[in-house]
Amino acid sequence: MATVETVRGPVQVADLGPTLMHEHVFVLSTEHMQNYGEGLWWDEEARVADAVGKLRALRSKGIMTIVDPTVWGLGRYIPRIQRIAEQVDLNIVVAAGLYAYEELPQQYHYRGPGLVMDMPEPMVTDFTRDIVEGIGATGVKAALLKCCVDAAGLTPGVERIARAVARTHAETGAPITVHTSGAAQSGRLAVDLFRKEGADLAKVVVGHAGDSNDLNYLMELADSGATLGMDRFGLDLFNPTPNRVATIAALAERGYADRMVLAHDANCYIDYFGAGHDEVRAAAAPNWHYTHISDDVLPALRDAGVTEAQIDQMLVDNPRRYFSRSAS
Ligand SMILES: [Zn+2]
Repeated sequence: MATVETVRGPVQVADLGPTLMHEHVFVLSTEHMQNYGEGLWWDEEARVADAVGKLRALRSKGIMTIVDPTVWGLGRYIPRIQRIAEQVDLNIVVAAGLYAYEELPQQYHYRGPGLVMDMPEPMVTDFTRDIVEGIGATGVKAALLKCCVDAAGLTPGVERIARAVARTHAETGAPITVHTSGAAQSGRLAVDLFRKEGADLAKVVVGHAGDSNDLNYLMELADSGATLGMDRFGLDLFNPTPNRVATIAALAERGYADRMVLAHDANCYIDYFGAGHDEVRAAAAPNWHYTHISDDVLPALRDAGVTEAQIDQMLVDNPRRYFSRSAS
């Protein structure tokens, strides 16, 4: 029986239950927080307690699993997630990879095949270690890979990261989620690159596809075998909820319910707003939180004609297929 790694260890894939496929717990720049936030707007104990409360509220809605693609570049720090996971009856799946829209971090700039320090691609080594041995000294294993292809497209840095992700996927079987720009339709570039690298596109989620309402673009991606991340509910700035709902209903009607997964891309705390986080966020994006889907979106999908079986596909069956290592 297939299992998937979570912060608290392996879980049977069949037991994942309703799953939100792209939620962060924290989004932080460690340097920003340590130098400008500690003792000011960042209070570790208060933020951990706040996260426990918000995730318990999510669990009370019947969601059993979240997939947290917070990698280097977004402030991944597994010991803090472990503290939270101990206090919440929720599966938290974590990721390996790198979050960069254009440039490679300097830490990978000089190391690699043919570079100053000539060696096998160090990103593949690092991502593989996260998946096979565990992240740092935590013993927690990553269960998926994450990279970005944003509006800037396949810059040299982005392409090197994406190829390292594809190669780690080929070696480990871990599935991929790729951040894309719905407005720039950069999902096409990502899918093409993964196809050329021989990736199993059934194991690729095109993140933030749901920021677009262009059905031709979305069907083209889904027809490749990839899964559409309808995963930014509450971020009305990129696409308001009624439009996101209408797009999902239109795709479901056309037979694509087996190619969509749901999420908010939310978090308990993001340091992009600095001081005044809670107030700024409540004003700018009041629905951008973990329970918007359970409370508002699922009823709206039902009203738009999406069936209970199709909702189950998006919340349960598609995540289960994605995390099953054998070909679907
Ligand atoms: Zn995200």
